[in-house]
Amino acid sequence: MLRIAIQKSGRLSDDSLNLIRECGISFVNSSLKLMTECTNFPLEILFLRDDDIPGYVADGVADIGIVGQNVLVEEGKQELTVEALGFSKCRLSLAVPKSTNYTSVQDLDGKNIATSYPNLLQAFLDEKGVQANIHTISGSVEIAPGIGLAEAICDIVSSGSTLISNGLKEVERVFKSEAVLIASPQLTAEKRQILEKLLFRIHAVQRARRAKYILLNSPNDKIDEISRLLPSMKAPTVLPLAEEGWSSLHSVVNEDDFWEIIEKIKDAGAQGILVVPIEKMIV
Ligand code: ATP
Ligand code: MG
Repeated sequence: MLRIAIQKSGRLSDDSLNLIRECGISFVNSSLKLMTECTNFPLEILFLRDDDIPGYVADGVADIGIVGQNVLVEEGKQELTVEALGFSKCRLSLAVPKSTNYTSVQDLDGKNIATSYPNLLQAFLDEKGVQANIHTISGSVEIAPGIGLAEAICDIVSSGSTLISNGLKEVERVFKSEAVLIASPQLTAEKRQILEKLLFRIHAVQRARRAKYILLNSPNDKIDEISRLLPSMKAPTVLPLAEEGWSSLHSVVNEDDFWEIIEKIKDAGAQGILVVPIEKMIV
């Protein structure tokens, strides 16, 4: 049995639980329980505060975990990283009141900065050669300038709307973060094997998220040209249509290249293009 630690309730929770579900792993999720055992995979889920996850995994209380890089690196445990998961993307930024005339990071020299991430901030300031007084507070960092605690803050930003509603402006990006899977360095061979199985499924889910299944009709004399424009896992599938002179082409395209490809194949004569999501993808 492998034990995974995920955030009990917060910005990582839904995406972490969804990833486990999309891997085809079932469990009963009761918000009252601290732990739940999966029914069809040797996995036990432990629900924790996100700040506690790196420590639990480092100590081997949990075997693996899902946590933000911001918390992991702040706690000096980045060596536990297995791989980035692509969700909960955000950044740690410095912000000052809107009215502040800010020109460069040197302006922060000698100033008071409130943050929940003193280590990440200190590393950034050291790199820039700036000396400031860091005030570590555990929450509601954005109100610090308003109550006279600090001239600047360093906090997590995604859209920036929290900053704006508190009369602040983002001036420096300190750290870029996303959710990562972490693992204890001392897993037994048996647990390592379960982790490999889980990773295999996670990769299939991640690949499928980026890929789309595409079906289109092509005049037979355009099949070669259109096939060359279509990326695919091996080569596109070509099936005859009931209508003489036409075929149906099936393939897989990457979300990122999607619009560009659609335009090109339309110009080449493709018709009736259908694009559908893929649930799992094994290469
Ligand atoms: P806990 O009660 O578990 O300690 P928390 O309040 O410390 O929770 P959350 O606000 O739920 O933490 O954020 C958890 C993680 O989600 C952050 O450490 C960060 O990696 C990421 N995150 C935070 N804010 C955002 C955001 N606005 N958009 C995307 N990801 C975010
Ligand atoms: Mg926390």
